[in-house]
Amino acid sequence: MAHVHLLGTGGTIASRGHGDRGSVATDTAAELARARYGELTVSSRDVLTTGSYRLSLADLRLIAEAVQEALADPGTDGVVVTHGTDTLEETAFLLELVHGSAKSAVLTGAQQPADSAAPDGPRNVEEAVLAAASPSLRDSGVLISFDGTVRAARGARKAHTTASSPFCGGTEVAHMAGHELVVTARPVRRPALPLPPASFDATRVEIITAHTGATPDLFDFAVRSGAHAVVLAGSGVGNAGPGFAEAVERAVAAGCAVVLSTRAPWGPVLPIYGNGGGTDLVAAGAVPSGDLNPLQARLLAALLISLGTSSTEFPEAFTAHR
Ligand code: ASP
Repeated sequence: MAHVHLLGTGGTIASRGHGDRGSVATDTAAELARARYGELTVSSRDVLTTGSYRLSLADLRLIAEAVQEALADPGTDGVVVTHGTDTLEETAFLLELVHGSAKSAVLTGAQQPADSAAPDGPRNVEEAVLAAASPSLRDSGVLISFDGTVRAARGARKAHTTASSPFCGGTEVAHMAGHELVVTARPVRRPALPLPPASFDATRVEIITAHTGATPDLFDFAVRSGAHAVVLAGSGVGNAGPGFAEAVERAVAAGCAVVLSTRAPWGPVLPIYGNGGGTDLVAAGAVPSGDLNPLQARLLAALLISLGTSSTEFPEAFTAHR
């Protein structure tokens, strides 16, 4: 008989109305895990009970440690993490970066609070538990199960604020057909990195977005104020306006790593354009993020830096795990 361990962190799935204070994460993991799962057994533990918009890197480290501890338990076949949807793709990607187990860790959440007339949380938890227990999903790493679709954490992002199925991207690995889980693909994975050390909590990686009329002032400020790395969310395939190539050069010379990603929701970063575009940004020392969006690129950069990757090692290490 398969066993799944559910870790609660809060989010809408655990939220209830508190009058003027708005909807607040309240329900425990035990309450979320209450459904009957036939042959499956589910145990639970609260890691946090908070909105995911409040999470710090220290919180992400705590969640990553809790997931690895649960996966290491020989009596557990898979792990479910209930999580707010706002930043779910960030936690999911950090978990994927350090995931060395053949068992799955499956994140889920809800778009409707627990006390709404038609909460989506119970169904999402049920499907996530099925996915976490599924032998067909072994070696698939960290997954996001939501509204009948299971996708890889890598490349996923919240693409709609209110839709019942808010996540897009990431390889779609399975879907529900009635109560059956149908597995259709395998995600592309990278070798697991070590868990973040305590220094991860204070690692500062800022995201600066390119836009028409942008000056490099905010970028320079991030470097001056002690950022360990900056992710430049360029336009299109990874471009930025006047002054950015020089700012990247200054940052890299000062020991601050620069990653070039894109503000476009999908597609790779490719150094094609000169005149201050991606070709010049990369020549100045920015490391292209490949297909990684700025939010996930930021977490890879923070993890590598907290693991002691030097600025000379950074480009190769980032490229190997992106
Ligand atoms: N809208 C969010 C959720 O789905 C709030 C949060 O991220 O905690 O849970």
